[in-house]
Amino acid sequence: MKSLREFVDYLKAQGFSERILEAFSKIDRKFFVPEEYKDLAYEDTVIPLKDGVTISQPTVLAHMLDALEVESGLKVLEIGTGSGYSTALLSYLVGEKGSVVSVEIDRDSYEYAREKISKLIEEKVIPNNVKLVLGDGSLGYPREAPYDRIIAHAACSEIPNPWIWQLRDNGIIVAPVGVAWSQKLTKLRKKHGKLEKTFILDVVFVPLRGKFGEL
Ligand code: SAH
Repeated sequence: MKSLREFVDYLKAQGFSERILEAFSKIDRKFFVPEEYKDLAYEDTVIPLKDGVTISQPTVLAHMLDALEVESGLKVLEIGTGSGYSTALLSYLVGEKGSVVSVEIDRDSYEYAREKISKLIEEKVIPNNVKLVLGDGSLGYPREAPYDRIIAHAACSEIPNPWIWQLRDNGIIVAPVGVAWSQKLTKLRKKHGKLEKTFILDVVFVPLRGKFGEL
């Protein structure tokens, strides 16, 4: 696919909601892609940023956002900022009444994303509702808890307890859960303190590092 338009039409053909399509059309993936991979920006593939860091595959990301039931006004915790692409999509979707706290363990990615996100805020493409944190997201980010939604872009063998504690009742977590090269994208809903799990699709993500990480 050569243009953002074609890319969004491709997602549309897969039946994603208008709201999600709008976010993908407003946040240009090409902006987050390093120079040497620009021609892959609108392809439905993962793009490497550095060792252990990738820019997520668009359809997988769209499924994640769909499962997360992101609505305007919500407070979202993201683990694995990476390039900042998914952070920008979340920021757009929750709008100025919502907020996104995104935690990244790798300093280079944190800085890369910080530059990209600042630019988009400056240009008013996204609202000023993002807090980027350099740290171990396997611990969540208790200082800003509780969250309505938690989304993770790195795979764990089970959903870390701190995420569950930091999730509001009726909240949703979407995370890849499994072993090194094979995980199930899992949706967990906390309802009256009880946990309901649903399976979304098979995925492959980089492993979650940190205290509650490692597959
Ligand atoms: N959604 C991002 C994908 C990033 S890849 C994008 O589209 O660009 C996954 C990221 O998770 C990597 O940047 C990796 O450094 C990060 N990561 C791995 N373990 C982590 C942890 N414990 N805390 C925070 N980030 C972590």
